Amino acid sequence: MQRHHFTIDVEEYFQVSAFEGSVERAAWDAMPSRVQLPMLILLDLLAEHDARATFFFLGWVADRHPNLVRLVASAGHEIASHGWGHERVTTQRPHDFRDSVRTTKVLLEDLTGQAVIGYRAPSFSIAGANAWAFDILLEEGYAYDSSVFPARRLDGNGDASMRPMPHWIDRPAGHLAEFPPTILRRFGMSIPAGGGGYFRLLPFAVTRAALLDCERAGVPGTLYFHPWELDPAQPRVAAPALARFRHYTGLKRTVGRLERLLKQFEFQPIRETRIAA
Ligand SMILES: [Zn+2]
Repeated sequence: MQRHHFTIDVEEYFQVSAFEGSVERAAWDAMPSRVQLPMLILLDLLAEHDARATFFFLGWVADRHPNLVRLVASAGHEIASHGWGHERVTTQRPHDFRDSVRTTKVLLEDLTGQAVIGYRAPSFSIAGANAWAFDILLEEGYAYDSSVFPARRLDGNGDASMRPMPHWIDRPAGHLAEFPPTILRRFGMSIPAGGGGYFRLLPFAVTRAALLDCERAGVPGTLYFHPWELDPAQPRVAAPALARFRHYTGLKRTVGRLERLLKQFEFQPIRETRIAA
C-alpha cells in the first residue's frame, strides 16, 4: 500500500507569516506559549492510528521546548528543520539563510542524537528566484526539501510552474529531493489540497481525491499541518481580515478531519521515502 507523508510545521500561533505585520518579533518572548498541548493531541492521534510523521521544528521553538523535541523523536517520528525564526526565504540574504538552517540543524541533532536531513521553508518560500537556497541546503548536509508550493496560493505566493510530484532538483552543489505539498489537478486547475487552511476550508473529499490520485501514480502525497490548527482557544491576534479568515476558520473541525485522514490512509516519515532517479 502506498504510504503518504503527514507533516507538521512546529511553530507558535503568533509566528505564522500571515501575522507578520501584526505581531512584532520582539514581542514573541512575552507571548504565552500554546504549542505543547496541541502537540500532545497530535502525538496521541498518530499513535492511535499507527502513523509516523515528519515534524519540521522551528529552532526558536526547539530552543524553548527541548523536551518536546525529544518526546517527538522518542515516539519514532522524524525531526526535521523549519529554520530558526520563521523568516521567509524571499526576505533573507543567503548568508542569513545559511545561518538559520545550520543553527537549527545543529540544535535538533544535539537534542535527538539523530541526523536531520529535511527542511521546509516558512510559507513554502522557495521558488525559481531564490533557488540558491537549494545549494545552501545541500552544502549544509540536508538531503531533501519541502519548500516549493506548486500552485498559486491565497496570499499570492506559490508557483504553478513548479512540478507537483516528488522529484529531484539538480544543482551545482548536488541533487536534492523535493517533496512539494500535494495539489489536486482538475479541469485544468491546481487546487491546493495538502493542508493548512485549505484542509480546513475545502471539503475533505478534495484531500482524499488528491491522495488517491497520488496512489494511482505510485507516489506519496505530502500533507502539512500546524499545532495551532488544533487549538481553537488560542488568543486572537488583531490582523487583517484575510489573515484572520485563513487562520481561524474551521479550527474546531481539524481533529475530526485528521482522524478521518488517519483512518483512511497510511503514513511514514519523508526520510523513509526513496524517489526514483
Ligand atoms: Zn511555518
